[in-house]
Amino acid sequence: MAGLYIHIPFCASRCIYCAFYSTTSLKLRDLYVNMLCKEMELRKDEVDTIHTIYLGGGTPSLLSPQNLTQIFKQIDASFNLSKNQEITIECNPDDITPNFVEALGTLPINRISMGVQTFDNNRLRFLHRRHTPQDVYNAVKKLQKANISNISIDLIFGFPGELLSDWEADIDKALSLNIQHISAYSLTYEENTVLNKLKANGSVSEIEEEISIRMFQRLKERLEQADFEHYEISNFAKRTITANGVASSYRSRHNSSYWHAVPYIGIGAAAHSYDGTTRKWNVADLQTYMDSINRAILPYEMESLNTETQYNDCITTTLRTKEGIDLALFKEKFGKHLYQYLLHESEQYLNRGLLVIQNDHLALSQQGIFVCDMIMTDLMYI
Ligand code: SF4
Repeated sequence: MAGLYIHIPFCASRCIYCAFYSTTSLKLRDLYVNMLCKEMELRKDEVDTIHTIYLGGGTPSLLSPQNLTQIFKQIDASFNLSKNQEITIECNPDDITPNFVEALGTLPINRISMGVQTFDNNRLRFLHRRHTPQDVYNAVKKLQKANISNISIDLIFGFPGELLSDWEADIDKALSLNIQHISAYSLTYEENTVLNKLKANGSVSEIEEEISIRMFQRLKERLEQADFEHYEISNFAKRTITANGVASSYRSRHNSSYWHAVPYIGIGAAAHSYDGTTRKWNVADLQTYMDSINRAILPYEMESLNTETQYNDCITTTLRTKEGIDLALFKEKFGKHLYQYLLHESEQYLNRGLLVIQNDHLALSQQGIFVCDMIMTDLMYI
């Protein structure tokens, strides 16, 4: 099993906090989609069966229905696809027009991930987002009317000057949408972003850590009360009962694969791929990517992952999940030395109740989640 990630590096405008690779040269979209299709054909033998597909960006909802149809035809032609795939597309709320929703009905997409960030107009303007809170309500209504029953939204908390009550209002508005999944992140000041420059010149200042922690606590409380499962540090999935009566939830299967070291192939400029022992990343420049693919040369760099790097990846991904690290599998994969290293480094946190071992899985405790960065740093193999 493997995941397929397709990167769509186009944005109508740039948000001030964003460090992802994207361009506002929208005129290259058709040509880029041709190159994506060519890359899929060139790499069709790299993966086994695909079980999840994720169109991320950038802003994939800026593609035309014809672009999307062409991509899905090529996916069908190049790869083996499992039944019951999860197929997600990231969308900007103001791209969810009646035409876009109609096009979705002709495509196999069954999950929408929408960048909402906040329901406050001033904070949206601050981020340079191009949508309004009303666009979000309209978009969700249109999607639900079209029977899209797996909708996720992204939220951001910890804006400069944001109060706990502001954040609570955002959480309440998110819950009122009756959606199935919420990802929430604190505002981060990434290098080479406009936001970081604003901080450096003193125009904005970071929120105090204590308030940020209280915001995260409130998020967790409110969403758990609303029957969402906190299944990964930043991710919450609505609980449900499957057709055969089994308790389940709307976890993101694609993102869960990243946290459990399932291989994936990344297509497009700046896309990453992972096969268990190597990581590849395509060049993060649209023109260089297209020129190279046009000449049938794959434009990636590659790194072989030694055991220690794989161990560190396991700490920074699997430990983020509710279940944590399966110790029996860990021992089998990493051997006795790293197994003992992990247990030894974990000891102080187990004693303080910040890590727990349950059913032979090592996981963050409820308190450990709030100091996860410190714990992960200490468990890394250096
Ligand atoms: S946050 Fe999303 S929409 Fe904004 S610039 Fe980054 S990729 Fe584009």
